[in-house]
Amino acid sequence: MNHINKIEHLGIAVKDINKANSIYEKLLGVPPYKQEEVESEAVITSFFQVGPNKIELLASTKDDGTIAKFIEKRGEGIHHIAFDVENIEKELDRLKKEGFTILNEKPKLGADNKRVAFIHPKGTNGVLIELCEEIK
Ligand code: ZN
Repeated sequence: MNHINKIEHLGIAVKDINKANSIYEKLLGVPPYKQEEVESEAVITSFFQVGPNKIELLASTKDDGTIAKFIEKRGEGIHHIAFDVENIEKELDRLKKEGFTILNEKPKLGADNKRVAFIHPKGTNGVLIELCEEIK
């Protein structure tokens, strides 16, 4: 049984979403297919599709938002890896039992029509992990 299906996207923290959009549009040769604000997270996101893969750019909408804090500490760059899962509750349950630190007890509404939850990077060799389940 597959717990985790695939990498759903890579999240990249950026300071300025418009500047980053034009850089990634040049890099990838396609414009973002979607730009979306997630108010609960104080982020504005844009998504690029490259073949079967997706890249999410995230910029903070608040000076003290999580992305702003991340950039302050570590600079712009890869922020998280998101995995696509079939059943997010089951996976959270499994990973909790495995000893991972779950940052969201209950999945929340994320960008791009997903229910999401995060796993603390301290238990994953420094990488913030996002689980996401597509809302069908
Ligand atoms: Zn993400």
